[in-house]
Amino acid sequence: MKITDIKCAVIANSPVIRITTDEGITGWSQIETPKPYMQPIVLQLKSWLVGQDPVNVERIMKRIRVRGGFKPFGAAVSAIEIALWDIAGKAANLPIYRLLGGKVRDQVRTYRTLYQHEAKVGHTPDDYRKWAEYGMALEGGFTMFKLPTSYHSSMVADFPDFHYGAVQRDAPFPYPHKGLISEQGFDHLVACVRAAKETLGKGYGLAVDAGPGYLKQDALRFAKAVEDLHLLWIEDMITGDYVPYVNADVYREVTPHTTTPIHTGEQIYLRQNFKTLIDGHAVDVIGPDPCDVGGIAELKWIAEYADLYGISIAPHGTANGIFGLASLIQVCATLPDNLIAFEYPARFEPFWYDITEGFDRMPVKNGLIDVYDRPGLGVNLIPAKAKKYLTEGDSDFFD
Ligand SMILES: [Mg+2]
Repeated sequence: MKITDIKCAVIANSPVIRITTDEGITGWSQIETPKPYMQPIVLQLKSWLVGQDPVNVERIMKRIRVRGGFKPFGAAVSAIEIALWDIAGKAANLPIYRLLGGKVRDQVRTYRTLYQHEAKVGHTPDDYRKWAEYGMALEGGFTMFKLPTSYHSSMVADFPDFHYGAVQRDAPFPYPHKGLISEQGFDHLVACVRAAKETLGKGYGLAVDAGPGYLKQDALRFAKAVEDLHLLWIEDMITGDYVPYVNADVYREVTPHTTTPIHTGEQIYLRQNFKTLIDGHAVDVIGPDPCDVGGIAELKWIAEYADLYGISIAPHGTANGIFGLASLIQVCATLPDNLIAFEYPARFEPFWYDITEGFDRMPVKNGLIDVYDRPGLGVNLIPAKAKKYLTEGDSDFFD
C-alpha cells in the first residue's frame, strides 16, 4: 500500500487530516480546535509522505519527526501519526489498540475540564461552588473534574491585586501573568479551591490547572495549603501549557515536599523531553497529549517509562475533537495501571456526531467509556454530510 495524498481542511476552527492510499483506505485525524494555523504546516509534510507505505508507522515517523516541536508545533506530526495508525488498523481490520499490544481494560475513565464560560461563573468561592454543581449535573456522570484557576484563568484580572505584576487585559494568549502571588490573592485562591472540593465531596476527584507562571515558593505553599483536600493533582504551576521548555529541576524542589500530586507535560514533544521529569522524579503525574507529544505510540512509550518510576499519567485532550477522542480511547485502553484518566475533549460541537460515523452520541457513562472494536480509530467523516462545513479554500477535501 502507498500513500497517495494528504489533505487538511479546517472544520469549525479545527484542522482535520485526510490521508488517502492507493488501496482506497483513508486515514483520519484532527488537531486541537484552536489551532487552524496548523493547516499549512500539515500540508508542508506532503512530500515526505506520498509514496510511503502507511502501515510502517514508525518508518514514516522517522522521516517527519524532526519537523515537530513543543506545543503547538508538534501537532501536525502527531496528528499524522494518528492517521497512519487509523490506516494500519483498517488494513488489518483491527482496532488500533490491537496493534499497540491489546487492551488491558474494557472501559477507560475520562475526566472533564469545566470551563468558566460554560458554567457562567467568576472567581469567588461562591462561583466555585456553582462550578462544582454544574459539573456534577453534566451528561456523562463524570467522576473527576478539573478547574482552571489562578494564572490559568481570569482570576488574576477578576480579583484585585491577585499578584504583584501588572494585570494585562489585552495581552495575547497564552497566559501573560506570572510571578509572585500576593498574600490576599493566595488566600482567595485557596478559599475558591476549597469551596469547589467541599461541594463535590468525597465522591468526586478534583484537579486544578493553575499555571504556568508560579514561582516555586508559591507552588509549594499552594500545594501544602490544600493537602487536606485530597486533590487529584495541581497542574502546570511552574512550566506547562505552551511553555517551550520543561525545567524539571525546579519541579523537583516542589514535588517531594508535599502530598498534593504535582502534574505537568501537555506541551512536551517527544519521549526524550520527558526523561528528566520522569527519571528525576520531578512530578507525580504527567499529562502528554497524543495530538502534541508525537502521537499515540509515543504516548504509550512515555506511559510505560513513567510506570517504571512510579509516576502516573493523565493524558491531556482539551479540544482534540472527535478523532482526538477516538485516539485517546484507543491508546488509554493499552496503558499500564499508572493511568488515572484522560481529559475528555469537551470542546467540540454536537454536529460532529452527525457528520461522522462511529459514535452515535456522547459516549461517557458514569465517567467511563466502553472500549470499542471498530477498525482503526473507529470514526470516519461522512463526506455527504461534512461537505457543508468546508470553507471555500478546502472545497476539494473529499475529491
Ligand atoms: Mg492544562
